[in-house]
Amino acid sequence: MRFNKAIRSPSWYHEKEIDITDEDKSFEWNCIECKEKISVSLKERLTFPCDPFPKGDFSEEERKEIREYYVMGEHSRSPCGGGMVFENIGCPLCKSNYLFAYGLNEPSNSYLVLTVQGIVHIDQAEQGASHNAGKPAS
Ligand SMILES: [Zn+2]
Repeated sequence: MRFNKAIRSPSWYHEKEIDITDEDKSFEWNCIECKEKISVSLKERLTFPCDPFPKGDFSEEERKEIREYYVMGEHSRSPCGGGMVFENIGCPLCKSNYLFAYGLNEPSNSYLVLTVQGIVHIDQAEQGASHNAGKPAS
């Protein structure tokens, strides 16, 4: 897994994006490859996952790489104080891959707050393309 450009990095200061009193809310950014808007529904993520990697089919190796990238151990917390969750999100148009990371915190009983902590563009050219950083204008 090659981590390309970070669009958002973990911080204590990120706004709390959504809590259970919000009806419906999405987190959006523009794809760095094709500028398409990528939208992630936060409402459907307001549940404690039993796995920090609930979606995206990460291999053991990738899980390790993600923890190393974010300098996390098995039980590290998100900067918001909650658990950190990682997901693979694909651009709907060009299929670029993004590693989407968010913290889920429970400041009081069954009151969940989600904070988007990280968005990193994943370079899919795993093999042999590392010298080809700039895209040729076809
Ligand atoms: Zn795209």
